[in-house]
Amino acid sequence: MSTAWVDLVPPYHNFNHGTDVLLQVAQYALVFGAAELLTPLDVLGLGVAALGHDVSHPGLNNAFQVNSASELALRYADVAVLEAHSAAVVGTLVRDRQLLLGLSDKDFRRCRLIICASILGTDMSTHFKTMERLTKFNDAAPWTAEGGGAAKRDALEAEERKFVCDVLLHTADVSNPARPWDLCKKWSDLVMDEFFRQGDKLCDKEALLGLPISPNCNRASTSQAGCSIGFSDFIVKPLFCQVARMLPGLEGTAVACLASNREKWVDAKDAEASAAAAPAAGAPEDGAKREDTAFDAAGDESPGGARLGDDGAATTVRERRGTRAVRGRFTMSWPRAIVPERGSARRGRSERSSPVPT
Ligand SMILES: [Zn+2]
Repeated sequence: MSTAWVDLVPPYHNFNHGTDVLLQVAQYALVFGAAELLTPLDVLGLGVAALGHDVSHPGLNNAFQVNSASELALRYADVAVLEAHSAAVVGTLVRDRQLLLGLSDKDFRRCRLIICASILGTDMSTHFKTMERLTKFNDAAPWTAEGGGAAKRDALEAEERKFVCDVLLHTADVSNPARPWDLCKKWSDLVMDEFFRQGDKLCDKEALLGLPISPNCNRASTSQAGCSIGFSDFIVKPLFCQVARMLPGLEGTAVACLASNREKWVDAKDAEASAAAAPAAGAPEDGAKREDTAFDAAGDESPGGARLGDDGAATTVRERRGTRAVRGRFTMSWPRAIVPERGSARRGRSERSSPVPT
């Protein structure tokens, strides 16, 4: 049997990830009480969105799409390219397979609204805006109506319930560092594999053009532990701490896992440092120092922006180069750009952009 299909299925962004995220939002809804804030129709839309939020993902992130002027990037005008693509594919499947048959027109429109908005909300370039709104939402705590159950739900406007769905899917999507260690590590291995495969492609492109391999995509110089710690500290922990204000049960579970997993990643990073100090066969040589990760502090939504990885590495969301410190120990290392093969004008634009592994 041909195994060519293996190369067509990304190691991380595949059906397993979709199923896993679906199970996560189901847990938030049914175990941690989020369903009390939502209507059954909202929960239905959220579930469909969770399962399909990365459908047809090519394993090459938004930055790659934009910088290479891919067909998808052109189709979606460089904006939330992969999220828009997945939302479109889900919409087509829902229509052609009549997955929501039986809903009234009004309910169908509401369900589609939840599906599309939640999927687009997984674009990491919107993360910081989501955090800002979530903080204000939690401060207002509109769900704290007396009586619980329907009273909680009735206290929320339809727009607020839609926002809750956005937050739940986004949270589930980046939840890997907040899972029990075995799962956390397995998902991390898979997502790093996907990043490195992208890096290999970048290497091919860049080698031809005399450019260095992009940070975080370079399997010889990227620190998995460093990426994981940075992603957890900078993105996942603040998000879960906010979501736990809405769903307090997450405090003793996901947030606790984040802390214990961080200790393991720190140990792993120390081991990496020790290995680097005493190079062995297969370890990176001098000049291939392992880097942490690259994060953008502001989460730009510029059309040319890219997204953070769903599970662990970094992104560029604005045009930058060079290296600068950000919030303590992490380093923002902005890679040189992918320069497309065609067109000098196009080349000039891309040289100011930065490819990232997501
Ligand atoms: Zn995802």
